[in-house]
Amino acid sequence: TCNVNIIGAGLAGSEAALYLAHLGCSVTLFEQRPERTTPVHTGDACAELVCSNSLKSMKPESAAGMLKGELAALGSFLYEAALDNRVSAGGALAVNREDFSESVTRAIESNDRITLVRGEVVSLREDGSVCLAGMSEPVGCDADAVILASGPLTSDALAEWLRGITGEDTLAFYDAAAPIVLADSLDMTKVFRQSRYEEGVGDYLNAPFSKEEYETFAHELVGAERVIMRDFETRDLFQACQPIEEIARKGFDAPRFGPLKPVGLTDPRTGRRPWAALQLRAEDAHGQSFNLVGFQTNLTFPEQKRVFRLIPGLEHAEFVRYGVMHRNTFVDAPHILDTSLRVVSNPLSVPLYMAGQVAGTEGYCEAIRSGLHAAISVFSQPMGKQGVTLPSETAFGALLSYACNPETSDYQPMHVNFGIMTPLERKIRNKGERYAAYAERGNRALGEYRSQLASLGIALRGPID
Ligand code: FAD
Repeated sequence: TCNVNIIGAGLAGSEAALYLAHLGCSVTLFEQRPERTTPVHTGDACAELVCSNSLKSMKPESAAGMLKGELAALGSFLYEAALDNRVSAGGALAVNREDFSESVTRAIESNDRITLVRGEVVSLREDGSVCLAGMSEPVGCDADAVILASGPLTSDALAEWLRGITGEDTLAFYDAAAPIVLADSLDMTKVFRQSRYEEGVGDYLNAPFSKEEYETFAHELVGAERVIMRDFETRDLFQACQPIEEIARKGFDAPRFGPLKPVGLTDPRTGRRPWAALQLRAEDAHGQSFNLVGFQTNLTFPEQKRVFRLIPGLEHAEFVRYGVMHRNTFVDAPHILDTSLRVVSNPLSVPLYMAGQVAGTEGYCEAIRSGLHAAISVFSQPMGKQGVTLPSETAFGALLSYACNPETSDYQPMHVNFGIMTPLERKIRNKGERYAAYAERGNRALGEYRSQLASLGIALRGPID
């Protein structure tokens, strides 16, 4: 048997606990609520969905659908709970939030192999045991491994401890990120490649505005609906970096002298400098997705889609990630974790893993999938031995390859998306067919991964229909 301490009964921690119990481990799961809560959680149930009730698309030929295919194939407990508590939402998977969390909580509380301990973990001791706020004796002293899954709103004391072991610059507390769009959703008859002052060449794509186009855009930007920020989020954030809509609010032309400045650019269609221009910078080595430079924003996701699609060339842009500005505690995954989600420079005497948003993923299904992955890693790497690598052709494998690659700089938490997947060997022009080919390749790779684990005697849970 193995004994595992898991910190945080959110999406990642709950999945990891249930999966490890299924594999035969004894789990102590620590959850700070209701003793200490976060600004976004409302109750004390496990796996609370903090915002929307949507787990995104079910379409197999979408990145979100591919991820769900993996959750189903690996027998994810939380994915099953989501299907059991589904409410109708077209092609997306949406759930009744309360029923979903209640069913996960029941599964955890009724599982003989899981002990749910309520209390805030403030630090870990060298042997992997856990120090709880207000208690003098550590808990969970016989741990063989620890999974830290305390989420984007990890309590301050634990975040401080984490910073102590990972290093001053490796833990971010805020996420201020610009949206990212898929390259092949851009209208290349309008967008042109050029770096400033380097006509005809360069690393950037530029979306040029005419005066009228700029005015329409700036008008809609100023009036668009924003996410209401809480005090704890506004404290340091606005000083560090201004959202694009705030810049526009300062003066109608302010973006034209800021992120949308056209200096040094010549539109090849007109031979002239545009009135304003958005620059887009490649996000990945293959140039499959692009970042809207300087466009960190606090607009709601539907408003980002509506307003940013007014930018010439982005009329049909597909958003790989929306811009966000909120409190978000996450480690610099490329320099902290390997693809098994294990902390590489670990000062503990037992293996330490991370899962969920604090490990640098973004999104509900990604958090669930990372909890499942950490569970398999713990089980297949007893005492730190090398386990089986998840192929990068799978949806989550692609995210891990990107997030845990030491060459990835300025890492921001990411959704699974086609922009980070290794391109297919042969070019497929039709988008639907291309995505179907990615999904098929991913399925094959996942099948091989399952077989490799089976050959090590690891019986994963059966697939969910
Ligand atoms: P969580 O689900 O937050 O779980 C972490 C758990 O750890 C919590 O229960 C917490 O109480 C506990 N914990 C923290 N510190 C301690 C401690 N010291 N001791 C013991 N327990 C502790 N993603 C989407 O896909 N859709 C959305 O609509 C969406 N909205 C979001 C809105 C906000 C405001 C934020 C911050 C994130 C949002 N996300 C969304 C991103 C992400 O998917 C969710 O945050 C998701 O819940 C992350 O799962 P997790 O398991 O990593 O963390």
